[in-house]
Amino acid sequence: MAAVFLVTLYEYSPLFYIAVVFTCFVVTTGLVLGWFGWDVPVILRNSEETQFSTRVFKKQMKQVKNPFGLEITNPSSASITTGITLTTDCLEDSLLTCYWGCSVQKLYEALQKHVSCFRISTPQALEDALYSEYLYQEQYFIKKDSKEEIYCQLPSDTKIEDFGTVPRSRYPLIALLTLADEDDREIYDIISMVSVIHIPDKTYKLSCRILYQYLLLAQGQFHDLKQLFMSANNNSTPSSSTSPEEKSTDRSLLEKAGLSESEVESPEETSKDCVVCQNGPVNWVLLPCRHTCLCDGCVRYFQQCPMCRQFVQESFALCSQKEQEKDKLKTP
Ligand SMILES: [Zn+2]
Ligand SMILES: [Zn+2]
Repeated sequence: MAAVFLVTLYEYSPLFYIAVVFTCFVVTTGLVLGWFGWDVPVILRNSEETQFSTRVFKKQMKQVKNPFGLEITNPSSASITTGITLTTDCLEDSLLTCYWGCSVQKLYEALQKHVSCFRISTPQALEDALYSEYLYQEQYFIKKDSKEEIYCQLPSDTKIEDFGTVPRSRYPLIALLTLADEDDREIYDIISMVSVIHIPDKTYKLSCRILYQYLLLAQGQFHDLKQLFMSANNNSTPSSSTSPEEKSTDRSLLEKAGLSESEVESPEETSKDCVVCQNGPVNWVLLPCRHTCLCDGCVRYFQQCPMCRQFVQESFALCSQKEQEKDKLKTP
């Protein structure tokens, strides 16, 4: 039977060859298309978007108001012998306490004590926690809503000119800001701010700067205050950049490693444009690089930061989507 079939096929040989070639063509086309399907996923595959949103962990945000602000005025002129000028900007009456030559180890022990047993809400509480492991202390009263320049200097009779070679056991200056009024401590989540300041001296000439700023919460946590890197756009003019609150929030992000909940002081002004589409307002902070450069629409397409190419491990929105929707409803 098969032999008869083959003989028949042979008789119609042109048709047989055409059929074989056609079959080979179909199979090859199928293989090539299938292979390409694996190789060009960005354009062809829609499933990638959903994969991405599950891979990048989105942080839950909580807004908190920070009553404290502290900056170094003219850092280039500061030194151990000539002193340092600090500018404070507080929303409530506060106390600024400066601890010169504070023990590094005792400071971190004090922060741990704040977490575990007693809260550092007054200068006395920090002093107790430090076991007075500092060289000199001075205190200033800060009136609320007034930018004050405070000049601090080690008295010459202490005869301290440097804090030794690196690594050091003492920080040059710790500035503690606490709320002066007891009632205010009930209102704010943040009860004190500890700024670790480096001041250059003979042995270590690194320029004057704030090394760390820790915000201490009434509930017992403390957070490291860090800057966000936002793309500067001079065309957009923030409506009220002079208000102290917005100024301090514009640069600050509170982030605690290992917690799904981090805190930022208040929503950013979102007039800056997305670096990708140049259209949407910047809303997303990428971690760990802290670049703030993407809008709501573009953030899902990036597993790497478009500014520095670092892989995005986590991200969070400055303005939650619900709030933005509310804003949109308000301004049709
Ligand atoms: Zn965009
Ligand atoms: Zn980046």
